[in-house]
Amino acid sequence: MTKPAEIRAHVLANLDHYLAELEKQLTGQGGTVVYLRSADEAADYIELLAREREVRVTGGAEGIRRQIEQLEPRLEDYLKGEPCVAVESVAIEGSGIGLAGAAFLIADAGAICLAGERTGAARPRVQVVLAGIEKVLPRMRDMAVFLPLVGGSDVRFLTGPRRAGELDGPEELYLILLDGGRSELLANQEKRDLLRCVRCGDCLPGQAGGRAVTCPVAIDIESLPLLLREEAPAEVSGWKFRLWGFVMGRPRLYEFAGQMLRAFWREQWGLPAPAAKTFRQLWREGKK
Ligand code: SF4
Repeated sequence: MTKPAEIRAHVLANLDHYLAELEKQLTGQGGTVVYLRSADEAADYIELLAREREVRVTGGAEGIRRQIEQLEPRLEDYLKGEPCVAVESVAIEGSGIGLAGAAFLIADAGAICLAGERTGAARPRVQVVLAGIEKVLPRMRDMAVFLPLVGGSDVRFLTGPRRAGELDGPEELYLILLDGGRSELLANQEKRDLLRCVRCGDCLPGQAGGRAVTCPVAIDIESLPLLLREEAPAEVSGWKFRLWGFVMGRPRLYEFAGQMLRAFWREQWGLPAPAAKTFRQLWREGKK
């Protein structure tokens, strides 16, 4: 197992311990740590923060929820290649409250690592950071191993709100630790290794550019799509697939349906002409 994979496996086996350490450190440094179950709960929480500070939020909780899902997409959505943005700061209303997604959390330093594009573009008074609970790493020195994996042109560490004498930093810092189904993944022996993912993006569609992809945290990328497709039947169990299954199970009906499709599809859908003979026709001719 590679060094990053070892560290990630160790974190997942001791997640409670490292989350508690992170919380203790960051709280001791003046930050606030909140555990929430879903993007909806996080949106409600942030909207409340904004209301208390009399900051207007365009689009309300729904607008915030969309931003949250962009910054911290569900791990499985991310690995399925659902569109998401790089980690970056998003101001809710020009100033006041800033929303960002964390690349990593460092337990021993009580630190939040923002890595991506424009992490420092907005310097809000209240900084809210979203992070999946799996993003924690044990020690600051682990960053030497992990930071090169996520890259980004801008890296910033937050260790709490601005202290007396400091020139930079938010007045308030909130870290929202999102579960978002991760506890279920953790309890699932087959899928828990997915939580090792550091979102380097190497295995996402179109990223490899023809080269073989090696996951830096030794996730079995070959079987990943199969694992994720386990959920697919629930999404594709509509009437179209039942009809398809019905037709596929009846060879004569299947052939008749194929002939109908060949007759109609070109005019209807503007597709290229089908081959002159079907596979079945060629097969029969070959047998004679
Ligand atoms: S290569 Fe591995 S770590 Fe990188 S995004 Fe894919 S699964 Fe995650």
